[in-house]
Amino acid sequence: MFERRYLPVVVVVLVALLVTVVSLWAVDRANTKSPLNPSGEDLPSASYQWKLVTTWPKNLPGLGAAPENFARYVNEMSAGRLTIRVYGAGEIVPAFEVFDAVSQGVAEMGHGAAYYWKGKIPAAVFYTAVPFGMTAQEMNGWLHYGDGLALWRELYAPFGVTPFAGGSTGVQMAGWFNRELRSAADLKGLKMRIPGLAGEVFDAAGGTAVRIAGGEIYTSMQTGVIDAVEWVGPYNDRTLGLNEVAEYYYYPGWHEPGAMLEFTVNTQAFEALPEDLQAIVEYAARAANQNMLDEFTARNNESLRTLLAGGSKLRVLPDDVLQLLYDKSILVLESLIESDPMAQKIADSYEAFARDVRAYHEISERAFLNARDKVLPPVNFTEQ
Ligand code: CA
Repeated sequence: MFERRYLPVVVVVLVALLVTVVSLWAVDRANTKSPLNPSGEDLPSASYQWKLVTTWPKNLPGLGAAPENFARYVNEMSAGRLTIRVYGAGEIVPAFEVFDAVSQGVAEMGHGAAYYWKGKIPAAVFYTAVPFGMTAQEMNGWLHYGDGLALWRELYAPFGVTPFAGGSTGVQMAGWFNRELRSAADLKGLKMRIPGLAGEVFDAAGGTAVRIAGGEIYTSMQTGVIDAVEWVGPYNDRTLGLNEVAEYYYYPGWHEPGAMLEFTVNTQAFEALPEDLQAIVEYAARAANQNMLDEFTARNNESLRTLLAGGSKLRVLPDDVLQLLYDKSILVLESLIESDPMAQKIADSYEAFARDVRAYHEISERAFLNARDKVLPPVNFTEQ
C-alpha cells in the first residue's frame, strides 16, 4: 500500500482524472447538440450533398470559376461534411431558370446575375449593375457595410431564396460591335445583346436589346442575329472568342461599372444546416466574391494586349453616345422606381450610399489616380 505521506498526492491525481473525464464528456455532449440534434444524443456527424446550378457554360473561366472555387472552399473548410457539385447551364436547368430552380428546391444553390430575373423581380437589377452607378469596391461597401445585403435578402425572401454576393468583374467593357459608332445616331437600329436596365436604356436610345445567355452569344454574332454584344471584359470575352465575330472593341462599360454576381441559396436548405456549416457557406461566398475581382484585375490587361495584337480595334465611346445613354438611364430608372415600391426603397439606399462614396472617392481614388498619372511616365494600350 501507499505510504501515508503519499495520500494527498494520490487524492490530487484522482480528482484531476475525474475532472478531465467529466470535462471531456461535457464537451462531447455540447459538440453533438445542434438544431438537427437538440437532445445531444450521439449520432454520426451528418453530411450534406448540395447541387449548385449556374447560368454559365460548365468550366467557363472567370465568371464560372466563382462557383467552382466556392465549392472547393466549402469542401475544404467542412472537411467534406458539406459537398457541393456544380452544374453548368442546361445540365439540370437552362441558364435563365436558375433562380426558379433554387426557389423550388430543385437545387440548393445557384450562381448567376440578379438582373437576369428582372422580369420576375424588377428591383433585382440593382444587385448586378446600375448604368453609371457604383464600382465593384463601392458595391461591396454598400452590400457589406451599408443596407445593400439586408435589402437584397428582403427582396428575395418571398421566394424562399437567400442571396450572397457572388463575385464582381470590376468595370466591364462597353462591348463588341461589327461596325464603328461615330455618333449617337449610329445606335439607331443596332441589335445588341445587353441585359438588365442597360438593355432598356439601349432600347430607349434607339437600339434593340436582345437577351441571350453566354453560351449562345458567339453563334448569334456569327450568324448576324445581333450586331453587337456586351459580355464582360478582355479576359472573359477572349474565352468566348468574341474577337473572332466582331472587329471593334469599345470602352468604357458605362452599363456595368462593377457588375456583381450572386450566389443564391434555398433558404430552407440553408436553415437545415448546422450553424458551423452555415458560417462556412457564408465565408466561402465572401472569399469567392473577392477572388473574382482579384482574378479579373490580374488577367484583363494581358488579355487585352493579346486581343489587340490579334487585330481587334480598341475604341472609346463618343461623348454624345455616353450622354444619350446617361439621359435615357435616368428615365429608365425613374420609371422602374415609380412602378415598384421595393425598387424605390432599394434605390433610396443605393443612391445615398453612391452619393457619399463618390464624394469621398473624388478626394481618394480619383485624386490618387490623377496624382499618379502626373508623376509616372504615361502608359496606354495603343489605339489602332
Ligand atoms: Ca456584362
